[in-house]
Amino acid sequence: MENKTELLKKVQEECRKADLPLKEGATNLVFGKGDANAEIMFIGEAAGRNEDLQGLPFVGAAGKNLDKLLKEVGLTLDNIYITNILKYRPPENRDPLPEEIKAHTPWLIEQIKQIKPKVICSLGNYATKFFMAEGNVDLMNKQPGITSVHGKVKFVEINGVKIKLIPLFHPAAIIYKRDLTPLWEKDMEIVKQEVRESLEQKKLF
Ligand code: URA
Repeated sequence: MENKTELLKKVQEECRKADLPLKEGATNLVFGKGDANAEIMFIGEAAGRNEDLQGLPFVGAAGKNLDKLLKEVGLTLDNIYITNILKYRPPENRDPLPEEIKAHTPWLIEQIKQIKPKVICSLGNYATKFFMAEGNVDLMNKQPGITSVHGKVKFVEINGVKIKLIPLFHPAAIIYKRDLTPLWEKDMEIVKQEVRESLEQKKLF
């Protein structure tokens, strides 16, 4: 049987071949990075310039801050997986259009299906609203903002995939609002506790 890493690689190659909006203007596919066996998945919005050039998510300023925040709570790319809602960079980092989200997110759901993380952390408003709307893009603007839902566990289901969601502040927002750092760290304690509980439940049943 193929392992998760190999299966995820196959999904990545299929995604690379897919005819997706934004592909034409992009330099690289930005599929994801980290461990396919991770218990925690982090999901941002979309690649920026550096991510597009390198073909990897969170490698620019926001990424550097994410690395720092993760290090402070004892996590590395060996135990998490990081990706975005969109798999290609929107021109000039403009907001994703509903049709782009609709076309790209089946690939995100496929990644979740392969990785089967215990917890998904949506980073910032955009990703959080996608999950809170249970994948219904037209309902995203009716969802509460990150300030009221960060650190709260929410169970959602998208296309039959059950997800334990914990929204977090976006690392780019924390660069400008340093006082969000202790809140982020507190939220990560909740994430780790939820992962521990899921692993213990698995042992019992
Ligand atoms: N911001 C995001 O949401 N994703 C990235 O990959 C980089 C910056």
